[in-house]
Amino acid sequence: TCTLMWFRSDLRIHDNTALAAATRRSPVIAVFLRSIPHWQRHGHGANKLDFWHRGVAALGEALAGIGIPLLHRDIDDFDEAPATLLDIARQVDATALHFNHEYPLDEQRRDRAVTAAIHQAGIMVTGHHDAVAFAPGELLTGKGDYHSVFTPFARAWHRQLTAQRLALCDTPSPQASIRIESERPFAAPPLATSPADAGLWPAGEAAAADRLERFLRFRAHRYAQQRDFPAIVGTSELSPYLALGMISHRQCLQAALNDNDGSLAEGDAGIVSWVNELVWREFYRHVAAGFPRVCRHRAFQRHTEALAWRDDETGFRAWCEGRTGYPIVDAGMRQLVRIGWMHNRLRMIVAMFLSKHLLIDWRRGEAFFLQHLVDGEFCANNGGWQWAASTGTDAAPYFRVFNPTTQSHRFDAEGRFIAEYVPELAELPAQNRHAPSDAQRIDTGYPSPIVEHKAARIRALDAFRTLPPPT
Ligand code: FAD
Repeated sequence: TCTLMWFRSDLRIHDNTALAAATRRSPVIAVFLRSIPHWQRHGHGANKLDFWHRGVAALGEALAGIGIPLLHRDIDDFDEAPATLLDIARQVDATALHFNHEYPLDEQRRDRAVTAAIHQAGIMVTGHHDAVAFAPGELLTGKGDYHSVFTPFARAWHRQLTAQRLALCDTPSPQASIRIESERPFAAPPLATSPADAGLWPAGEAAAADRLERFLRFRAHRYAQQRDFPAIVGTSELSPYLALGMISHRQCLQAALNDNDGSLAEGDAGIVSWVNELVWREFYRHVAAGFPRVCRHRAFQRHTEALAWRDDETGFRAWCEGRTGYPIVDAGMRQLVRIGWMHNRLRMIVAMFLSKHLLIDWRRGEAFFLQHLVDGEFCANNGGWQWAASTGTDAAPYFRVFNPTTQSHRFDAEGRFIAEYVPELAELPAQNRHAPSDAQRIDTGYPSPIVEHKAARIRALDAFRTLPPPT
């Protein structure tokens, strides 16, 4: 007999809760189910699929190093997961199945179906909470509800975090060889477009650990001052690795603790601020689990469902292609398309531009992001979009509409980021890159603004003002 470990978005052998539990009952056989059609239907594009593919290959190698074979199965849809896993379990005579929980609605449904089918066959199934310090439902308001505001959530998170919550799981020791051979890795996924340069996002645990180490050594202590400036590499760029579990939040937090005299909440301002972002990541996972309507393409704030979003295909295309005539917006969008990642400050600026200045439904932007992001992850993406569009939890108040030109002056003062991603403006004096004059636009071929900030702002405020009151 043996134990099955089903890997999903936890592509690592270190500090993996389910794997550590599974290997207590050696021997273990690992399995990965891949459904390219399902992921494509859910909106993931070439960058994410390619990174996923390389991540599974790296996982296979790491598992081979500890004697655990990885079985690969391609399926059309995750509806087939129960039958496929049952089939494997019977073939290898498994008595138990372990996996780490995922929190969006579809994933929870999939796991319930798998659990029911495998249980019925007399095989033990255990789901583990691994990707968050607190399982959804563990941190509630005084009234027993899920938090819908970040700050009290973060306070409760810090208050209840104990050493035990942060303790890393054991790395499995190599197991004696078993009769099942590891299988050949998956064939490369068929991709509609070519992915971003793989050298930008090397996959696997070693690459993630190296990024974390370099971040803590060179950038973390200045994170609070530098994190908002896209021309500076000031953040960890760990998001793709956290999204697919090539590194765990515990490994990140533990390293932060070691670097900050054992504290996550006070001490080095850079570390404290970075930890806060990891809490945002966890908050949005709790939101997806606690308010599953957000997983059904619904607004978190129900009354905003009535908003009269504009139908503006031309505006949408200009936004997607980085041709809005607002250099900072266009630079952000071109960064996304070129490297599959966008700086957080720019994600906020471009998301607000689409949902407020163009008054285009945030769901279209959410889908475009997912299509291009290498770190595309439902909870953070949905949370970020709904925040920007003022439809979400703890939303930006609807009357807050970033002025893209002011943001550009503040966060890219020397126009360095603009020069990199909107090269037609690189020859202009830095001060003119934020809002080129008409003559400069004609000279450089850079488009005129597709909306005028003040008028667009008023249009957005009017649309929000006419909504029914919040329920
Ligand atoms: P760091 O600043 O180093 O932060 C460390 C980690 O904390 C990140 O890797 C990430 O896992 C987490 N984190 C940071 N900021 C946030 C946040 N605001 N919300 C949730 N988690 C956060 N993040 C994704 O991982 N996937 C997405 O699909 C995604 N979509 C977004 C869409 C919009 C409209 C917005 C405004 C934000 C989105 N974010 C998303 C959050 C954030 O922009 C990225 O996590 C961050 O830019 C990644 O860079 P980093 O790894 O250098 O982050």
